[in-house]
Amino acid sequence: MASQSAVSLKRKPAPASPTRDYLSWGRYPAVGHAHVYKPAWDDQVPTILESAASGSLLPYGRGRSYGDSCLNADRSLIDCRRLNRILGFDESTGVLRCEGGVTFADIIKVFLPKGWFLPVTPGTCFVTVGGAIANDVHGKNHHCAGTFGSHILQLGLHRSDHGVVVSSPELNSDMFRATIGGLGLTGVIAWADIQLRRVAGPWIDAELTPFHSLQSFLDLSRESDGRFEYTVAWLDCFAGKNPRGIFFRGNHSTATHKPFRPKHGPKLPFALPGWCLNRYAMKAFNAAYYRVHAAKAASGAKGKTGESLMPYDSFFYPLDSIRQWNLLYGKQGFLQYQCVIPETNLAAFEELLDRIARSGMGSFLGVLKKFGDAPSTGMLSFPRPGLTLALDFAMRGERTLQLMRSLDEVVQQSGGALYPAKDARMSPAMFESSFPRWRGFVPYIDPKMSSSFWRRVTEGSQS
Ligand SMILES: Cc1cc2nc3c(=O)[nH]c(=O)nc-3n(C[C@H](O)[C@H](O)[C@H](O)COP(=O)(O)OP(=O)(O)OC[C@H]3O[C@@H](n4cnc5c(N)ncnc54)[C@H](O)[C@@H]3O)c2cc1C
Repeated sequence: MASQSAVSLKRKPAPASPTRDYLSWGRYPAVGHAHVYKPAWDDQVPTILESAASGSLLPYGRGRSYGDSCLNADRSLIDCRRLNRILGFDESTGVLRCEGGVTFADIIKVFLPKGWFLPVTPGTCFVTVGGAIANDVHGKNHHCAGTFGSHILQLGLHRSDHGVVVSSPELNSDMFRATIGGLGLTGVIAWADIQLRRVAGPWIDAELTPFHSLQSFLDLSRESDGRFEYTVAWLDCFAGKNPRGIFFRGNHSTATHKPFRPKHGPKLPFALPGWCLNRYAMKAFNAAYYRVHAAKAASGAKGKTGESLMPYDSFFYPLDSIRQWNLLYGKQGFLQYQCVIPETNLAAFEELLDRIARSGMGSFLGVLKKFGDAPSTGMLSFPRPGLTLALDFAMRGERTLQLMRSLDEVVQQSGGALYPAKDARMSPAMFESSFPRWRGFVPYIDPKMSSSFWRRVTEGSQS
């Protein structure tokens, strides 16, 4: 593929404006930014970088990170959403070149009808390519496809000190490994070459299986890993040490005959009052969700195979069907806790589940997945072999933070880690034990970049 043209007419960036409008998905912490730059053209980015003070900038995608890794309190953001052009596509290889602000939804809309799909996708399609690279996101196929970063062939990065730096696993490979999972701190991802994968159509052959213990979840994972590209489980977080849940597994279907219409769901218009989400409502929701899906699984077993053909959007992005569902948690917002615990330490995992159940504070969607063994590309990538659990907690002040600190103890002792994309409060010590080699990443940080997350977790540690 020809490299992107460097020809540009010097265009001035759109004026910056002070704002409190830029939040993360958890809506916590709610911080203000000094300025938000909104470049519409790639060639406006260098001017923004040149004029900024040291450590004052951070790129922002679609704010689908839950905590503060996409925030830069009292400093500035570069909103990348208008840098969203598709620059090239090679139909013979499936290599797509696009700007960093292109969303996964954009890619699916254009390329799924042509028989191509994303190599890895998180549980929402409203993320940008830049954001997905910067968090090296994982999906339901981690056990066979690794992270999103392992499907990036090459990328172009705006740096304030070196102009546009092109990197790949072979070229400037250290900068490449720093930028994959680099939390937006190595510069602004201008464009990336992504290896898409071929699919027959928009349908997934899916199966649901109820399970009643951690061991049966592991057995299902082992049995499925070789036969199913996608596996994930929903967990009833009120069930304690012996969790029950529903195991979902699937493959892209070759069924091409069925007409397909993407879903457009309702939108939550405003933040609900906090009391709507009390422990009784959440316990009832978890029990009902389990019953409905266990019944579906049972009816499938009786031979109603039609029920196992699911549209890709219901399979990959069930939450996207309610727009702004994050407002469910009320004005104070919520925190997501996502950790990984080595599989050799199941006792720690059970202890974690027990603490969550006893707290009565868990919420709707506990998601459980066994990561594969493939090493992640990025210096700060989160995925590693083990069991990963993701769970939402409504923000109830110190009570919530205290529970999370108690979960941290278990994760830390087990040799596990927390996911920065979901974090708004981990301590420097917790970050250190999750990413013991983080100091090796520091030389690759762009001198103009910083974030609320980075300042918090490296507080007092950087020379
Ligand atoms: C419902 C839901 C489900 C999710 N499921 C998963 C999942 O299954 N797996 C998973 O891994 N994650 C998951 N996530 C998290 C989400 O995939 C990541 O947080 C993702 O990085 C968000 O992308 P974004 O474009 O919104 O970026 P933002 O959240 O805006 O930013 C994320 C990071 O990317 C950086 N960044 C953004 N644009 C650029 C750019 N152009 N250049 C350089 N850096 C940039 C920012 O500085 C920041 O550090 C989920 C989130 C939601 C809301």
